[in-house]
Amino acid sequence: MAECTHLDTVEILGAPQEIAGCEECLELGMRWVHLRMCQQCGHIGCCDNSEGKHATAHFESSGHPIIRSVEPGESWSWCYVDELMFELRA
Ligand SMILES: [Zn+2]
Ligand SMILES: [Zn+2]
Ligand SMILES: [Zn+2]
Repeated sequence: MAECTHLDTVEILGAPQEIAGCEECLELGMRWVHLRMCQQCGHIGCCDNSEGKHATAHFESSGHPIIRSVEPGESWSWCYVDELMFELRA
């Protein structure tokens, strides 16, 4: 089975208690669909169904490979490099 080799980059497991929204969208006055959090630095960005695709843009500019969903009830993570979905537990 394929495995993500970037788990040592993960600094943050849980979603924050309060999320204002996609950081770039808030700045630009754009709307987002779903929110994702970078598990290395905590950046909040919007998903690829959103116009801004800021979570992916954050990966491309920072190289931080793993995001997780911060939508209510969702706890999956995604590695952009390996293109793998998995769940991380504390
Ligand atoms: Zn990986
Ligand atoms: Zn955005
Ligand atoms: Zn990051």
